[in-house]
Amino acid sequence: MSKDFLNVLRENNAFAEMITDVKKNKYIQIVILRELQSYGIFTTEGRILNVAETTAGVKDNSKVTRVLMIKRKQVASERRTGKALRRKLIEKGLTICGREDCSLIQHLCGKCPDCMLYGYAAQGGDNADTNQSRKTRVITDTAFSIRDYGEKTVEEITLNAVDEETHSTGTALSSKEHIKPGVIFPCVETLVDVTEDEFLYVLANILLTTRYGAEANRGGLIKNHIVGIYISNQEVFTNLELTKHLYDELKDKLDDIDLNLVKEAFNRVEDEIIKNAFSSVKKVDNINTFIEEFRNYIKDDTNLMEIYQNIEKQIEEYSIRKVEEKGEKSKSRKK
Ligand SMILES: [Zn+2]
Repeated sequence: MSKDFLNVLRENNAFAEMITDVKKNKYIQIVILRELQSYGIFTTEGRILNVAETTAGVKDNSKVTRVLMIKRKQVASERRTGKALRRKLIEKGLTICGREDCSLIQHLCGKCPDCMLYGYAAQGGDNADTNQSRKTRVITDTAFSIRDYGEKTVEEITLNAVDEETHSTGTALSSKEHIKPGVIFPCVETLVDVTEDEFLYVLANILLTTRYGAEANRGGLIKNHIVGIYISNQEVFTNLELTKHLYDELKDKLDDIDLNLVKEAFNRVEDEIIKNAFSSVKKVDNINTFIEEFRNYIKDDTNLMEIYQNIEKQIEEYSIRKVEEKGEKSKSRKK
């Protein structure tokens, strides 16, 4: 199956030809509306949600306290999706370059798509031979709710502690703040110097991940709606600015905010943000068609296998080049 949907990106030189440490500033930005389908908690710790006071809009200078979806909660879930898929494909014959299972808690191998794309630290890792760490090429940031922290966004839910033995509801009660279903977090994922296959890998991770945050098995169900993909040599979209622009557009309809309203508002906001960029920005036209074609493409396991196998090959080639470079360096030092 051809990947014609990638033509705009190919024509605009959006992809790196190979995995390299040389920065080329090829940015691809994916704008996502993360829509909560259940109650969610995206805190670091504790009973209270993470919030931040920010300026409400770009035009509206008043202050508003927003609920946060912190960065780590977004990316950790998506990394797990890619790793799980890779394990499944290994069973089906994917030949790999790094370790079969590489985890954040134990050791990062430095040779799997996850390490190569999302980065790793050498400390305590298995890659002591190279003694390197790798910066992420998938940049994410904390996302902000469009509306303020208030009864439309947050609800305090009392949890009954269930007695494990009798399965009856105990008397111990605890309560926790939850973000309400329907709340939307606009956010951007920025890919830097990724190959075509790596782009597809990250895109699949975004679209296949549905559980985020604490207690992800009981809540934090999210649907990711991709509303735009942009090619540039700078970071054009940022989470807060995007959220503030959307706030301005939706200011009179804050009580009715839903996905369609935000999508409509985004169409107006998009041009404004692109207009203010300092470099040329190319966008993927007809994003819905693009996503539909991508969906059809990855539904087929052979296509997924191809993406994953290509990346393994690219990592292997990268490792070989690194060893060669090292050899040449030590040779020239001896001279
Ligand atoms: Zn790894």
